[in-house]
Amino acid sequence: MVLSGDPVGSKWQPHGDVVYRIDRLGARVGILPATCLRGEHSLDAVGYKANQTATHLQIVCTACVGSTPPRWDNYWALRTTPPLPDRAELDDGPYQDLIRKLAAQRTER
Ligand SMILES: [Zn+2]
Repeated sequence: MVLSGDPVGSKWQPHGDVVYRIDRLGARVGILPATCLRGEHSLDAVGYKANQTATHLQIVCTACVGSTPPRWDNYWALRTTPPLPDRAELDDGPYQDLIRKLAAQRTER
């Protein structure tokens, strides 16, 4: 699926990589950020949509995508590594550095 306004171009880069872990039963778990890209919403609370593309996963914040005016930065784009995980869970823990980096970039603009 393609979102309108999806930035296309050679300069475009995902924000980072999906973090995976193996649980005690040997299942592969994809860990997704628990907070939306803008750092304003808890994805658990407002809801999100995960779209797997050929190379990465888009995690769209339901609150940001429905805001007026629409926001271009309403989703995380994280590179995925096959195979597909058995399940996903939300945790900001592994993404603290990335979240801090993106927040710093925002304030520089
Ligand atoms: Zn949001």
